Amino acid sequence: MTPASQEDGVPELLGAIEAGGTKFVIAVGTGHKDITAQTIIPTTTPDETLALALDWFQEQGKLAGLGISCFGPVELDRKSPKWGYITQTTKPGWSDTDVAGHLGRMLACPVGFDTDVNGAALGEFTHGAARGCDVAIYVTVGTGIGGGAIVNGATLHGFRHPEMGHIRPRRHAGDMDFEGVCSFHDDCLEGLASGPAIMKRWGSSLSELPDDHPAHEIIADYLGQLCATLLALYSPQRIILGGGVMHTPGLLDRIKSRTGELSRHYFAYDPETTITAPGLGTMSGIAGAFELARKVIHA
Ligand code: ZN
Repeated sequence: MTPASQEDGVPELLGAIEAGGTKFVIAVGTGHKDITAQTIIPTTTPDETLALALDWFQEQGKLAGLGISCFGPVELDRKSPKWGYITQTTKPGWSDTDVAGHLGRMLACPVGFDTDVNGAALGEFTHGAARGCDVAIYVTVGTGIGGGAIVNGATLHGFRHPEMGHIRPRRHAGDMDFEGVCSFHDDCLEGLASGPAIMKRWGSSLSELPDDHPAHEIIADYLGQLCATLLALYSPQRIILGGGVMHTPGLLDRIKSRTGELSRHYFAYDPETTITAPGLGTMSGIAGAFELARKVIHA
């Protein structure tokens, strides 16, 4: 592992936060392969969670920089007075919360800040399944559905950041009646294919349903529609599918198969390598957070 800085022979200590809606994974070290300490804090109220994170970091020593991959939506415009905030989120109590600015001021260090999925895309680009790609997408399918993109080495922001989980798929013929669970759009992709949508429809997680249950085909259809859409929009060399729902045995292969059918093989992508599991397993987000810290120090 290359230390963050070798100029004086002493690696700089970096802080990393993977801030999720249920837990904050926080770590210090010089990268995801050299974590010297790590802990998990439950995501309760902003005051409580951020105070616990702050206390923990202050016990670890002076940080050269902090990287945060954060659930959102978030403000990524460095020129905005609300940069580093979680904006209007469905997570109760967390709307309009200053995360990055507050921690940066209290820890007196520069902060790199991005969405959780952009962070994971960056982690996979730097160390995992998207190494060497001009364009790569990271999608998480879990409590929600979100996607981040890395284009020519930089995460994609735009006016805010992509919200790939909120596209509107065509309804599967066997799933015309379910109203969906997205509080903003009802039956967007997240509303139809996230973990809570699966639980609400079938009373069980996808992995607990029998292999011949129609849920497998329906969810693979929706996620196949997402992948075909991503191929059309971004021409990615990798679409990395992570998150809890993706642990369902056989789901990745079903999605790959459905993507091929839906795209009619028009895009000429490599069906074997383009759609894949994370190369870093569950470490994509924290690896990306370390990379955000490294980038902000050396910007
Ligand atoms: Zn939605």
